[in-house]
Amino acid sequence: MTINDVVMAGIRHSCFPNCAYSFSNELVFIDEVAPGDKITVDFSTLFTGHAVLFRCNCGCNGCRINILGFDQLPVYFQEKYLRLGMVPRETLKSIDIQINTTKYTSSVR
Ligand SMILES: [Zn+2]
Repeated sequence: MTINDVVMAGIRHSCFPNCAYSFSNELVFIDEVAPGDKITVDFSTLFTGHAVLFRCNCGCNGCRINILGFDQLPVYFQEKYLRLGMVPRETLKSIDIQINTTKYTSSVR
């Protein structure tokens, strides 16, 4: 899945989204959505890595501006999204690889 795939589906990013992709990659509501509201997802839950995916201007109080991968989110957001099951399986698989790499790097020092 790429950002373009998600955007082409009519979904926009928000730092405080009303929807999320679940572990099984289903789009689920996490907040009330009224007719005409935009469907928003925190795109950081869909990707990993420290490259800036894009600069956000969602206008939310607490907007993170530079949108990075899930593994680069503040721990508070990672734990919140994991607790709510708002992280797709594919994202978690990528993180496992990076966590293993980090452990390996740490043990070498
Ligand atoms: Zn934002």
